[in-house]
Amino acid sequence: MGRENRAWRWWAAAGVAAIAGYPLLPAESTASTTYYNVLVLACVLAIGVAAPRRAAPGTRAVWYLIGAGQLAWAGGDLLFSWYEAQGLDPFPSPADVVYLAGYPLLGAGILLLVRRRTRGGDRGGLIDAAIVSTGVSLLAWVYVIMPMTQESGVPALQKGISLAYPGGDLVLIVLLIRLYTSRGARTVSYWLMSFAVVAVLGADAIFTGLITTDSGVFNLVAEMLWMSSYFGFAAAAWHGSAARTAAATRQATGLRTTPGVRPGRLTVLALASLLAPAVLFQQGLTDPTRIDWLPIAAGAMVLFILVVLRMRGLVMHVQRQAAQLAAIANRDGLTGAPNRRAWDTGIAAALAHARRRDEPVVVALLDLDHFKQYNDRHGHLAGDRLLREAADAWAGRLRTQDLIARYGGEEFAVLLPGALLGEATEIMERLRGATPGGQTFSAGLALWDGAETAEALVARADTALYAAKRAGRDRITPATTPVAVPASLAA
Ligand code: GH3
Ligand code: MG
Ligand code: MG
Repeated sequence: MGRENRAWRWWAAAGVAAIAGYPLLPAESTASTTYYNVLVLACVLAIGVAAPRRAAPGTRAVWYLIGAGQLAWAGGDLLFSWYEAQGLDPFPSPADVVYLAGYPLLGAGILLLVRRRTRGGDRGGLIDAAIVSTGVSLLAWVYVIMPMTQESGVPALQKGISLAYPGGDLVLIVLLIRLYTSRGARTVSYWLMSFAVVAVLGADAIFTGLITTDSGVFNLVAEMLWMSSYFGFAAAAWHGSAARTAAATRQATGLRTTPGVRPGRLTVLALASLLAPAVLFQQGLTDPTRIDWLPIAAGAMVLFILVVLRMRGLVMHVQRQAAQLAAIANRDGLTGAPNRRAWDTGIAAALAHARRRDEPVVVALLDLDHFKQYNDRHGHLAGDRLLREAADAWAGRLRTQDLIARYGGEEFAVLLPGALLGEATEIMERLRGATPGGQTFSAGLALWDGAETAEALVARADTALYAAKRAGRDRITPATTPVAVPASLAA
């Protein structure tokens, strides 16, 4: 890594020096043109040399496509220079065609890079990019592209070629936004490439008159930005992190705690969504008779749909998470059985239901016999396994309306709605017979008296359990029936 990055530093230093030296040459001279073209070609060559060395196998196409795009731009630059040297300035010319061919190539390279970075899906990032891109495209359409299409007296071919430049730049902006929202490592190579795209956009903005021209200084700045862009792409290809830039980050699995939207991104999305009404305001305030209602309305609709789609993804994510959390919160981690929390909810609901319907409820507490010995003899892990198997076996012997919860260590609580002591004892005998590993349990049963609290009911079952243990274990003991229980229920 160290040596790779040392080579990169030399490249960066040479780039800065070369660009800084450019203004020293006389403007629009053969010397400056030659200087420019040689440097640009050197950068393209550097990408070609770097691609097979730096890129991870399987991602070289990214760099070859970017390199090919750069080659087309360099070729266009060369042709323009040749025309200039002849004292010609034809427009459109083959130079434009060669130059424009660079956009789809470069775009394909960046698109492929994004695809590499987002293997395994990145719906959220894709929608975010679409939202920002829609807003930006609306601006570009209304303020740059439409005014150009409406220019009169320009031949169709010329108009088409003129439009292709801002069109290509818009595609680059969209791809840059997508690159920015993509998952994947933000490496030095990633930032260098982003810088290179921004530099080219800046240069194009100056060149197409979007930022003011007619000044030698601005032309010089544009040329230096183009050179920086060539150097930036080459540096991105050479940097030791080029391979990691095209690698997908592993998507988090299991319970995800971050819904994937940071406040900063939310602000940007909100601003992008407001661009359509903002354009409407601007046009309405300037000249209410000339409002580009079609692109504004279409843009606003697309933005609404995208925002709702994004919201749907987030809501579904949160709902999934809530369901996962609820499941975790009510399950015992070891056995997967309902836990004490689920028990508390379950018994409260069962008693409320029984009170309304005037029905009986039996609670049983069961506790494995001599479980400490089992652990001592077979090890704690075997003890854990037995707890799991026992919980499964017992749950399988219950009726659908019953509930068995892990109450503590090797103690389980059973809720038997609608059962009297006789039926409850039968059910608990079924459980006793199903206990795995040749183990036994003792249990205490208590029939609800129709008035007592859940705590009091469980306490009576616990007393009965204690009695079962004292009486020699491996048995089911009913609690003494409280006086309050009607004779019809106690039978
Ligand atoms: P008794 O018949 O009186 O209930 O005897 P006992 O050994 O089962 O009772 P005691 O309360 O003395 O010990 C309970 C044991 O249960 C102690 C502890 O090692 C074991 N135990 C509690 N929770 C777990 C658990 O999650 N995993 C395992 N492997 N053992 C546990
Ligand atoms: Mg025990
Ligand atoms: Mg115990």
